[in-house]
Amino acid sequence: MATNEDIGSSQVEISGEGYDKKCIFCKIVNKEMGTELLHSDEEISCFKDIRPGAPHHYLVVPTRHVGNCKSLSKAHVHLVERMVDTGKKILLENRVTDLSDARFGFHLPPFCSVSHLHLHVLAPASQMGLMSRLFYRLNSYWFITADQLIEHLNSKGVPN
Ligand code: 5GP
Ligand code: ZN
Repeated sequence: MATNEDIGSSQVEISGEGYDKKCIFCKIVNKEMGTELLHSDEEISCFKDIRPGAPHHYLVVPTRHVGNCKSLSKAHVHLVERMVDTGKKILLENRVTDLSDARFGFHLPPFCSVSHLHLHVLAPASQMGLMSRLFYRLNSYWFITADQLIEHLNSKGVPN
């Protein structure tokens, strides 16, 4: 049960989170699929997208199953911020230094194909093809940037 003291902590515990045996990303982060993990800690994991939409395309996910953007509350702001920080770290480790030409964001349901929360990290955004520009389009009703999501969550009340 989350308490106010927990809000913003990386250890925030929200009921329903954990391992979903039907979830492909739960299997990946638990090393059941042979997918290389570029980052893995108790809270956050990262791996390459199997169908890259840009020369660099990483997925940053919570290590424990968390549902899509619509299931999030203000209590998840710290988690989303850590996901973004991990995405930036992975880009830098892969010699992508122009973070202003990177895209960080989420598909909104029903446009998510995997229910496990995942941040798309795409770079260089300027080299994305026509279809990727459409899939990961800014200010569309199917894709929201990480900054927009954080702003939206911060505007929500703290859950009881
Ligand atoms: P969504 O469409 O839900 O925003 O993004 C899901 C992403 O997960 C897609 O870009 C898709 O290519 C990627 N994906 C789906 N299954 C796998 C998988 O088994 N391994 C990896 N590495 N990526 C996957
Ligand atoms: Zn999962």
